Amino acid sequence: MAAPNHFDVAVVGAGVFGAWVAHDLRHAGASVVLLDAYGPAHARASSGGESRIIRMGYGADDIYTRWSAHALLKWQQLFARMRRPELFRRTGVLWIAPPEYKYAVDSLTAMHALGIPAEKLSTTDLRHRYPQVAFEDDAWGVLEPESGVLLARRAVATVVDEFVRLGGEYRQAAVEAPTSAQADGKVLEAIKTSDRHTITAGQFVFACGAWMGKVFPELLGSRIFPSRAEIFFFGLPAGVTQFDEAHLPTWLYLADEFYGMPDIEHRGLKVANDRHGASVDPDTQSRIATPDAIDAARAFVARRFPSLTGAPIVETRVCQYENTSNGDFLIDRHPQMENVWLVGGGSGHGFKHGPSVGEYAAAHVRGRVTAETAAEPRFSLATKAETQQRSVH
Ligand SMILES: Cc1cc2nc3c(=O)[nH]c(=O)nc-3n(C[C@H](O)[C@H](O)[C@H](O)COP(=O)(O)OP(=O)(O)OC[C@H]3O[C@@H](n4cnc5c(N)ncnc54)[C@H](O)[C@@H]3O)c2cc1C
Repeated sequence: MAAPNHFDVAVVGAGVFGAWVAHDLRHAGASVVLLDAYGPAHARASSGGESRIIRMGYGADDIYTRWSAHALLKWQQLFARMRRPELFRRTGVLWIAPPEYKYAVDSLTAMHALGIPAEKLSTTDLRHRYPQVAFEDDAWGVLEPESGVLLARRAVATVVDEFVRLGGEYRQAAVEAPTSAQADGKVLEAIKTSDRHTITAGQFVFACGAWMGKVFPELLGSRIFPSRAEIFFFGLPAGVTQFDEAHLPTWLYLADEFYGMPDIEHRGLKVANDRHGASVDPDTQSRIATPDAIDAARAFVARRFPSLTGAPIVETRVCQYENTSNGDFLIDRHPQMENVWLVGGGSGHGFKHGPSVGEYAAAHVRGRVTAETAAEPRFSLATKAETQQRSVH
């Protein structure tokens, strides 16, 4: 019997955003197909790779603090239902800041106002607790003890597994970019796939990460800015445990714009530069680490983790952020096709928010918006500029 090709909703893109949107729509009773060109959280997707930080601190942007706290709960509930509790690691998250650093001060204030545990640490506290890190004499810290790490690609696979278990359909296929000619008047009737199927649906969600500009070149080609990101895992000296989850939290070194994680699953110390790299094409960019990024990561490690000076790099990953102009997400209706929704712009910080994005987008697609999911102007297409000025991290 041929597979059905009509659905209430077709979701294109099985990264963390599309997977959660599809999941929540199916959970609400819609018939849903989820499609991806390469597979859920594949090696080229922004949601691929082993690990992503889930932290609550967002400076004064308390909308993301609230969304992150809500998302953490939903991630943990999913992992409990699917018997995969190990996919969240409560490592704690430590912000290391220069004196009076506004982002850290505002994060602490916002977390305290929302009742989220967050501890202020002095230089003495930092040095006493984390002797394996070299702190400046005036550094201070904010520790989020409940936050930690999501094991990224497996977490997304788990969302898709539950979506399928709930009766959703996952298909691996590339979807052709819909042209305005395909939209009959103001409604998109169908999409075409690489395996030559035509899928009709009442609504379409495009959650295509760094590919958004390729799928909608006129609309998003100059509004989504994919940028290269390189990740390193440094091998630890034999027998040394002081970099494991019991001894070192996940950390963000604000002055240096580097962040990283303790030794999870014996991969070594994860180290990454949060600055935006070169503009890239997610299909074709080289996934081999560059000498400049290797040198910068080695120099950072030598400065901040002196006992690892000269440690071997045992694993690398190259990925891309899918930035909007300022870092706010894009979750809005297509301006010319009223049954088409755009969900993206994770901007290097979106992973943790997957469950909140799914809940918000599913409510809007279904037309069942509540006080919690009321339209947020910051996610609108209208706020997405064509020049970059990053303000949300
Ligand atoms: C190196 C790195 C570190 C990061 N660190 C963190 C972190 O610590 N914490 C955090 O919260 N966030 C972090 N982020 C950001 C976060 O990972 C992303 O914001 C998030 O994963 C974006 O998910 P997405 O679903 O929008 O995109 P993707 O995961 O890229 O998914 C988009 C999917 O759409 C599919 N697709 C595109 N076009 C088509 C088509 N035509 N047909 C079919 N399928 C298509 C693609 O194959 C892809 O699978 C990081 C990102 C990177 C790259």
